[in-house]
Amino acid sequence: MNEFELIARYFDRPARRAVLGVGDDAALLAPTPGMQLAVSADMLVEGRHFFADVSPEALGHKALAVNLSDLAAMGAVPAWCTLSLALPRVDEAWLSGFAAGFFALADEAGIELVGGDTTRGPLTIAIQVAGEVPAGLALLRSGARPGDEVWVSGAVGAAAVAVAARNGELTLDAATLAACSRRLDLPLPRLALGARLRGLASAALDISDGLLADLGHIAARSGCGARIDWDAVPVDPALSGLPEPVRRQAALAGGDDYELCFTAPPQAHAQLEALAQTLAVPLSCIGRMVAQPGVGAFVQEQPIVLPRAGFDHFAA
Ligand code: ADP
Ligand code: MG
Repeated sequence: MNEFELIARYFDRPARRAVLGVGDDAALLAPTPGMQLAVSADMLVEGRHFFADVSPEALGHKALAVNLSDLAAMGAVPAWCTLSLALPRVDEAWLSGFAAGFFALADEAGIELVGGDTTRGPLTIAIQVAGEVPAGLALLRSGARPGDEVWVSGAVGAAAVAVAARNGELTLDAATLAACSRRLDLPLPRLALGARLRGLASAALDISDGLLADLGHIAARSGCGARIDWDAVPVDPALSGLPEPVRRQAALAGGDDYELCFTAPPQAHAQLEALAQTLAVPLSCIGRMVAQPGVGAFVQEQPIVLPRAGFDHFAA
């Protein structure tokens, strides 16, 4: 199978919203008048972002999910994406599994694949996504103010525990490993929540590198700091049997759960609780923004000290 047969077979589907999709030198897209485009890219490299033995279905899902999570964090509605693949060889079983995982999530999220690139090389998946958001209403990192409450969706910590277990740093019972692996391999982007946070949240992002590190980005861009109450952090129930230091490290600095972290003025508290009910997505108020720069987690007023603060590809 050559490059063009491969694209035609696995990635060329009839155009839907796109004026022109896969097959020409570029796709043609017509954004809805009055909307801004939110554009983001994320690359996944074997050995760095995923383990070599992960199933191709899960990989197709996850590669798109982490990109959609960025659109969710902006309050954008998914519209179009491109997919660039470096493949060590043509493996049809792998390609059909990858495409199945990718398109299942793409269809669910309403995003259309309109192009990409395919080349031989070490397994690498680079996706770019574009979503629409009403002009001026995107959720930025820079809008938090001292006094705003800090919220997080769902539960955190499970994906990091799965990574530690697969790296041989932790031994888990089978049920815990299965629950944590599910969070790591099949994250669900919080798209409905992100869209509903427009006009409610003052700042937002998705948690990919760890709750404290990511909240630090909101704090830095907003020119303030944050205090987190550890007892309010929604630690994934799968971690209930693990030692407290492991739970803290995973939930505060683990990352990879792709939950949303956002801030909102206290007046929005009741509305956010109602939204959690409507969407059936747990929302936890975990602390507040403060004037003093820096982000810390506290338990009964005592600061928590973590061995590792968050994920950084270029950390020494
Ligand atoms: P060019 O040489 O102009 O870069 P290519 O030969 O790389 O074009 O690609 C041919 C067409 O197939 C283009 O429309 C491109 O967007 C699309 N395409 C290539 N790889 C992928 C892929 N992995 N998924 C979706 N579309 C792809
Ligand atoms: Mg090309």
